[in-house]
Amino acid sequence: MKTIATKIYKIKGTTASEAIDSEQIYTAGQIIREGGLVAFPTETVYGLGGNALDATAAKRIFAAKGRPEDNPLIVHLYRSEDAALVAKEIPPIFHLLAENFWPGPLTMILPAADAVPRSTTASLETVAVRIPRQRTALALIEAAGGFVAAPSANTSGRPSPTTAQHVIDDLEGRVELILDDGDVMIGLESTIIDLTASIPVLLRPGAISEADITRAIGMDISKAPPLAHDSPPLAPGMKYRHYAPHGQMILVDGGEEAVVSYINAQIAIYKKRGSRCAVIADSDTYRRYHADSVKCVGSHGDGEAIARNLYRVLRELDDELTDVIFCEAFTVSGIGAAITDRLYKAASGRVIRV
Ligand code: AMP
Ligand code: MG
Repeated sequence: MKTIATKIYKIKGTTASEAIDSEQIYTAGQIIREGGLVAFPTETVYGLGGNALDATAAKRIFAAKGRPEDNPLIVHLYRSEDAALVAKEIPPIFHLLAENFWPGPLTMILPAADAVPRSTTASLETVAVRIPRQRTALALIEAAGGFVAAPSANTSGRPSPTTAQHVIDDLEGRVELILDDGDVMIGLESTIIDLTASIPVLLRPGAISEADITRAIGMDISKAPPLAHDSPPLAPGMKYRHYAPHGQMILVDGGEEAVVSYINAQIAIYKKRGSRCAVIADSDTYRRYHADSVKCVGSHGDGEAIARNLYRVLRELDDELTDVIFCEAFTVSGIGAAITDRLYKAASGRVIRV
């Protein structure tokens, strides 16, 4: 692929009350309006933005990431009434969810209007929409014309980026501009809910939990079944091993003592074979492991911290060329379901119960 000179803007205005630099945002918006690509922060992870209504721009997003063509993009809006321009129908439940959770980490799947190029939806008749809760993202989407297709700003198959440096590592030379507005707040991708069936279906857990959603809409929702190897994926994109470290990852679930002794015993075996071993643990246990590298991902039971640190830690382990990564199965409420989902995918389903 041809390399382009990537500009990097550090967003000025450091506090929420300080205005962000309108010239920077205007330039970024113009790049997208002209068919270019701008990586930008959202509250979940950094996104790789292009004009969602421009088929060529959407194709460039796929090329820049090396993303499989059948993995659809989420269309980012800055106001909820614009959903009517990209969706054929808006079910009543959409309004309830938008009022409760937008701007925020919830993506809704709706029947797609003809205005949305099928390269954005990966040839599906449905479209994913979300309004992020992040000042730079909202300002950019407005400046770009209101419809920004943005998957996570990583090379396909790597952990999603939670800092501007992660984006630079993956996409420098492949996008026109990277907006650096510091570390993200959440660290895991949005919750995705499909509203095209009679009962809403949770396709991907995120910071907004199933309980949050059922409370807001007053009804139960169904959940996409865990992916079996021989069954077709319910949502395209769910079949990919998204959050994949280079090393083989093994999730270990069980009581604290059993987990620590199992992992240490395994490390002893792997070390004899000459493998480089790592452990991902929380603040209660990380000092107890005898691995080449031990990462503390957050305080015990603090799901928000674990979510925020997880992808950074996976990237660090990639850089350290780890062969085997043992990861504690963190059982926390709220965002815990999303953490488990990402860990399970990173481990390609390898879970040991001790
Ligand atoms: P990313 O932005 O990289 O987290 O990827 C977006 C994800 O949203 C895709 O991998 C799909 O799983 C999901 N998605 C986007 N559009 C649709 C759609 N129309 N139907 C179902 N899932 C979708
Ligand atoms: Mg992604």
